[in-house]
Amino acid sequence: MTNLPSPMRLYFRCPGCALVARPGSASYPAAPDGSPAWDGRPAEVRCSECGHLHWAQAADIVPDTTTSTCPREGCGNEAPCPQEAAVVTCTACHLLYAGPATADPAVRDLARATLGLHTVEMQGTLAEAKRRAGRA
Ligand SMILES: [Zn+2]
Ligand SMILES: [Zn+2]
Repeated sequence: MTNLPSPMRLYFRCPGCALVARPGSASYPAAPDGSPAWDGRPAEVRCSECGHLHWAQAADIVPDTTTSTCPREGCGNEAPCPQEAAVVTCTACHLLYAGPATADPAVRDLARATLGLHTVEMQGTLAEAKRRAGRA
């Protein structure tokens, strides 16, 4: 039996908005030992971006292939995330911020339109500035 972390700690692509992010909520069969582990059977997850409720299973996990630096002042945690992530959840302070995929303007526009939040734009710009600073 597969022993996966809670779907809340994994990234999925939402079939509603096509963005990759961690779910805003998840409901899945409880592990026999009462741990938050997930056996990969279909879980009902809610997209944190558009609120779309959809089913996800082990095969739908978008694996963490990179890390992203949390933009929160004083945090700077390197959060593991997929390259495809439009929104990253900081594994230290739980801030949601624009992920690596938003380097693509099309994804950034989609994320901005879906979330309707200025924060994505601001944090995306900040992350971009930091990346540029890191390269310089
Ligand atoms: Zn969605
Ligand atoms: Zn953080």
